[in-house]
Amino acid sequence: MPKAILENQPLAPLTTWKIGGPARFLAAPRDLEDVYGLMRLAYDRGWPLFFLGRGSNILIADQGLPGLTLHLAKALQKMERQGQTLRVGAGVALPRLARAAAAWGFAGFEFLAGIPGTVGAGVRLNAGADGQNLAGVLKRVLVATPQLQLVEFQAGELDLGYRSSLLLHFPHWLVVEAEFALATPAPPAVIAEKMRQLLAARKARFPANPRSCGSVFKNPPGGPPAGALIDQAGLKGRRAGAAQVSKKHANFILNQGQATAGQVKALMAEIQETIWRTRGVMLEREVVFLPDDLA
Ligand SMILES: Cc1cc2nc3c(=O)[nH]c(=O)nc-3n(C[C@H](O)[C@H](O)[C@H](O)COP(=O)(O)OP(=O)(O)OC[C@H]3O[C@@H](n4cnc5c(N)ncnc54)[C@H](O)[C@@H]3O)c2cc1C
Repeated sequence: MPKAILENQPLAPLTTWKIGGPARFLAAPRDLEDVYGLMRLAYDRGWPLFFLGRGSNILIADQGLPGLTLHLAKALQKMERQGQTLRVGAGVALPRLARAAAAWGFAGFEFLAGIPGTVGAGVRLNAGADGQNLAGVLKRVLVATPQLQLVEFQAGELDLGYRSSLLLHFPHWLVVEAEFALATPAPPAVIAEKMRQLLAARKARFPANPRSCGSVFKNPPGGPPAGALIDQAGLKGRRAGAAQVSKKHANFILNQGQATAGQVKALMAEIQETIWRTRGVMLEREVVFLPDDLA
């Protein structure tokens, strides 16, 4: 077994919810070459392969993940500016991207300042906030396929929509790099002030407990937001064990202690059933279940 691969490693600390069992094997690749080596090893040995960014949009099962998990939060950290184009590695944190664009004097990335994920996972579901999303600044994406080919997509080919993209249909594709357009020059101080205001507004709206995955459900098209529906159904504060619907923002489920994935799933199912029964709306989850969603 290569030294860089750790066995039976806890994954909960690598997620914002702090929930879930261990990874059978865990590795943190340093660069693309490393990623390829690890992918090849997993395929040779028939191991399922999982990707983990900053763990801010996943629920890991209590029994953990079989096979090999690639922890990308510290890998693929490239950030390279070429004129009006910014090439960014998939492991770069979205707030870092926002701050870099601001420092270079380009607006349009401020909404990313409070989203605690990576570029790779962000592109995959077109992360967004405050009426903007990555589709507004994305030019191109490089993806590594399970056949170890590097495939390039123009943003227009990715079918980017509200928390969705073509990439969601291919969970075995690894986003390696994304290219962004630096198109809107603005004074860094003005951009910084806008970011400060957006962050302050988020702080006022969101619960103080950081052990969550942000919004659990997508907002249904054309209707009230998921949080409003859950609130109106009287489910704020509802608990399953240590998992609790936030009293401040009903689309957040908080880990109030030693919550399990089973408890979070039970609470989510109860919310979906209640909203379906009382409002005729089936809430679609935004959070990814692992390993379930890779089956
Ligand atoms: C407090 C809080 C607030 C949030 N607010 C927002 C918000 O305003 N807007 C918003 O859009 N989201 C928000 N989120 C959700 C989350 O931050 C985003 O979805 C983010 O893009 C997830 O990135 P991650 O690196 O943490 O992904 P992870 O949770 O690690 O992974 C999510 C999924 O992406 C896959 N993945 C990870 N890296 C890659 C890669 N390189 N290539 C392919 N697949 C990959 C994983 O396998 C998994 O399926 C919030 C979360 C929290 C905790």
